[in-house]
Amino acid sequence: MKHANIAVFIPHLGCPYKCLFCDQNRISRPGLAPPPSDIPELIQKHLSTMDRNQTEVELAFFGGSFTALPKSTQEAYLAMARPYLGRGLLKGVRLSTRPDCVDQESLDFLKRWGVSTIELGIQSFDDRVLYMSGREYSARQAERACRMVKAAGFSLGIQLMLGLPGDDEAAVYHSTRRAVSLAPDLVRIYPTLVIKDTGLENMLAQGSYLPLSLEQAVELSKEMYIAFQSHNIPVVRMGLHPGEELRCPGTVLAGPYHPAFGELVQQAVFKEQALMLLGDIEGETPGISKVLLLVNQRDLSKMIGNNRRNLLEIQQIMSFKELSVAGREDLNSDEIAVFIAGGSERRLDRKGFVKRRRDPINTGSGRYIEELKKTRI
Ligand code: SF4
Repeated sequence: MKHANIAVFIPHLGCPYKCLFCDQNRISRPGLAPPPSDIPELIQKHLSTMDRNQTEVELAFFGGSFTALPKSTQEAYLAMARPYLGRGLLKGVRLSTRPDCVDQESLDFLKRWGVSTIELGIQSFDDRVLYMSGREYSARQAERACRMVKAAGFSLGIQLMLGLPGDDEAAVYHSTRRAVSLAPDLVRIYPTLVIKDTGLENMLAQGSYLPLSLEQAVELSKEMYIAFQSHNIPVVRMGLHPGEELRCPGTVLAGPYHPAFGELVQQAVFKEQALMLLGDIEGETPGISKVLLLVNQRDLSKMIGNNRRNLLEIQQIMSFKELSVAGREDLNSDEIAVFIAGGSERRLDRKGFVKRRRDPINTGSGRYIEELKKTRI
């Protein structure tokens, strides 16, 4: 069964203030939040395009701090979903909010209104990063909010950012470890971008903030992604959705922006998985020179990499004379097989890869520590 959200963007509604790095009018969608009376039409429009036998649909309120809205406003929005929940046309309602804006009373309220998933914009579990990014809550508060959401029977989503002021490799791994320990039902990973007219733009101009490079952000996100995968925690998004506003020249002033950031991370994972498999084969069959990598047809671009980068790098590392890739339908998604001239074949699936790989969040290489220190003020 596929999952789909009918997204309702409520830019900054309920937010106690505008965070240092955030401008939802540029990140999600420009304009005002739709009034509750517009919601039924939106739901119907989306439902008419979906195969409901194959898709579980949730109404999703994103882009604000839903639980910080007055109860009457929350009710007005949630009431619009009720008839669809009652008829089984919606599976539930999901919303995003801040961890310091949930308490037992608000969770009981949301439960009564059919909310199923709560995504908490945690951003970091490191107190220094939270303080320097002006989040106004502690890591302990954030963890408590996560536990409360789970204990109340909601699906828990954790949103993490990397490259915030004060962040470094150790803090990213710490946050990842804490997130893993809380067993969320889903995770979103967002590298910090410097968006026009935000506090971070001023810090950048003053020289007190240095964003991550794209390469650093991909590398760190890859480590986070593997850590979550090794604990069977789905990462449903990496990188901001490249909406029209975000793609406008002058919106993203600095930082590791790429319209297909998640794809870049997936490519980095595929490269490493292929290297592990090829390393095994080379150990068993020294001197091989011609290798054919096989992946599911849908994974071809992830295996090849942008501008054939993965293939070129693997070939350089492994010193093969010939390295090529082909798609094969019998392979599972995220699985790689290697066919060697002479006939033998070996496979490595994602589960096997993450199981064998050193746990990066416990054994950080330190490769980026020096560079990331520059993000400290
Ligand atoms: S980061 Fe979240 S809480 Fe902060 S301004 Fe943006 S939407 Fe509101």
